[in-house]
Formats: sequence, structure tokens, C-alpha cells
Amino acid sequence: MFKYQAKDFFINADKKELDESLLKYNVPPDNIPSPFIAMLLQDGDRKILIDAGIGYSEEPIVFRGKEYFWKGQLNYLLGKENVNPSEITDVVITHFHPDHIGGVFSSDNQLVFPNATFHMHQNEWDYWHSSKSDYQPPLFKFFIEKNITPLKNKSINLIKDDYQGLGKDITSVNAEGHTDGQIALIIGNKNDQLLYISDAFLHPIHIEKMNWQTNYDLDHEKAKNTRLKLLDLAYKEGMKINAFHFDFPGIGTAQKENLNWKWVYEE
Ligand SMILES: [Zn+2]
Repeated sequence: MFKYQAKDFFINADKKELDESLLKYNVPPDNIPSPFIAMLLQDGDRKILIDAGIGYSEEPIVFRGKEYFWKGQLNYLLGKENVNPSEITDVVITHFHPDHIGGVFSSDNQLVFPNATFHMHQNEWDYWHSSKSDYQPPLFKFFIEKNITPLKNKSINLIKDDYQGLGKDITSVNAEGHTDGQIALIIGNKNDQLLYISDAFLHPIHIEKMNWQTNYDLDHEKAKNTRLKLLDLAYKEGMKINAFHFDFPGIGTAQKENLNWKWVYEE
């Protein structure tokens, strides 16, 4: 669980409308709670992890003289499900922000999922390994160097196409904007599908106010096009939506009212 500020989440929002929206969701402007919801799927013999959380360290991580405390619960929760990380066959990384990659390597730099194939978009890999990302926060680059770059000698699948299959019942959907190569995922079979939207929407308010931009998106225009693409897809196909940063477990539907969208959490 992390806390965000309205001034970063809704940078161009009208003040009065923003106050109304925050009131509706009962969140204070300086303390918007935001869980990090990774997902485990079991498909026959495959155990598929989607996103790896922020990671866990007993000791604080010291970076540039500052102490950071990462207390992600992924390993604890896998243990509770009686899943050993070595049983994970696939890890899908939707984009390379710290809260999605921090659990790939342990605090002492051991690969946590030694038998997994790691799926990620080629554009995401290229962006973070090129000068395009030079201006990104040093802490983000630190996470990439620790959790992503060392994967180059491991089993990785770099996704290139929109709507690329990642095995049975998982399809990757290009969802750029938040980052250069973010992906969303269609999970399940024709009759029962879930759309994993990752960080295309950081809060339900972004579904209802499609033009409100966040500080965390790389390209606002692309981010908005992706938002429309994903909502249309979910709506047309009757999919439920799973959102990484919404209230746990982050599942609901986007409903269309006239020209506006409305988020409804699943009961
Ligand atoms: Zn995130």
C-alpha cells in the first residue's frame, strides 16, 4: 500500500470537480491509498505471475544516502498459497516501474523465479535501455539495473505485436502512454474474460474523468488513447476489469452512461 497525492494523480483537474470526485471516493487529497495488486494464475501445469510488486528487504535499501523500506508481501502471499517461487513458470511484467518489477530479484540479487520465462514488451525493454530514459528518476533506473537488465541472460520473451498470445488464454494488448511499452492483458477464455489494465488507470476517477492526466504518465496523448482503447475493448467484449492500483482486489466493470464512463467495483 502506497499513498499518493491528488496534485500528482490529477494534474490538470478543475479544482471544484476534483473536490467532488475525491469526496465521492472518500479520499483526502494528500493521502490517496494505492495497493500494488499482483496476480497469480493457474492454467494446467503453468503457474503465471502477473507483475512482481515492489519487492521485500529485511534491511533498508540505501540508495544515494537515503534509506528505503520495501516491504512487499508477494513472497509471503505465495507461501500462504503453498506456491514455491521455483514453481512459477511464467512472469508477465506489464511495465518497468518499481512497483511492478521490484520482486524479480531478491535483496541479495538472486532471481526469485529461477524457472520462469519472463514476458515483456520489446518497446519497454528498448526504452529503458536507451538514452530516451536518461532523465528518468535515478531510483527508477536503479530498479531497472537490479531487476530487469540481468534478465537478458535468462529466458525472456520480448513481445512485439499488439494482441500477441502468451500461451493459452492470455493475450497481451499494447497499452503505451503510461510508459513506452506498457501492456494490458486479456485473461481467460471467450465466455469469461478479464482485462488486466495495469497502470492505464491509476484510480477509478481516471475512468470517470478521461482527460485528467497524471504525473506518472510518459505521454498524455498516448495514455488517453490507450484508456479509450481498453474501455471500449472491455465494454464490447463484456469483460471485467482488474486494476493494479484500485482498492483490493481491484476488480469491477466500466459502464457507459451516455458519453461518460462509470466505474463500478464488483460486490
Ligand atoms: Zn504501478
